[in-house]
Amino acid sequence: MNTPRMIANLVILGALLSPLIYSAESQQPEPDPKLTEVWEPVPRMVTPGVGTAAPSDAIVLFRGHDLAQWQQADGSAAKWKTTGDAFTVVKSTGNIQTRRAFGDCQLHIEWRTPAKVEGEGQDRGNSGVFLQGRYEVQVLDSYNNRTYSNGQAASVYKQYIPLVNASRKPGEWQSYDIFFRAPRFAENGTVVTPGYMTVVHNGVLVQDHVEIKGTTFNVGPQSYQKHNPKEPLMLQDHGHPVSYRNIWIREL
Ligand code: MG
Repeated sequence: MNTPRMIANLVILGALLSPLIYSAESQQPEPDPKLTEVWEPVPRMVTPGVGTAAPSDAIVLFRGHDLAQWQQADGSAAKWKTTGDAFTVVKSTGNIQTRRAFGDCQLHIEWRTPAKVEGEGQDRGNSGVFLQGRYEVQVLDSYNNRTYSNGQAASVYKQYIPLVNASRKPGEWQSYDIFFRAPRFAENGTVVTPGYMTVVHNGVLVQDHVEIKGTTFNVGPQSYQKHNPKEPLMLQDHGHPVSYRNIWIREL
């Protein structure tokens, strides 16, 4: 038998045997892959930022120069000190907050505790990023600085210990990328859906979709108080010259 003839015979044999080899199921016509394709909606285009720069749909809250997007709690001009591309807490001037209010959001913020190490525990490079003015992601020099774990850098203050300590040395710039889902309240003030937070510290996941237990009070149990669906972002004056830069937010 010549070779082409042999191959032809093998093909015929294979075809004859295939019903015996394969299950009846595989003999069904192939389902159309188009049946599981979803074409709507079409995600809108967003131009990503270069490195940690703001993407095209972000609201830039600080990119150096001025604190126009920020104010004191009483609505007066923010009193913290701007230097180059950063600004720094001025002791005893009070917290500052954004002029705009936000609900669900993605926040990028960079911060730096003083290079000159002073104090210990909570008294070293303390500040804080307060989503909606009440849910604090702790800012602290937590590099070789023991304190209660649910109050160290990247903790959801007094609620959640960070998964790891991803702190850089004092004097070095650090970043938080925070993914926040705001709580929803019923008319009567009861919580319909709690808030949720995911935090990435210097590129490392430290809070993984944790359920916020309420306002991050320093003293006593944490509980919710009904507030507006959108509230300003607040930064804490804890008396230490902590600096911030490159702050942007995306509304979700
Ligand atoms: Mg704090």
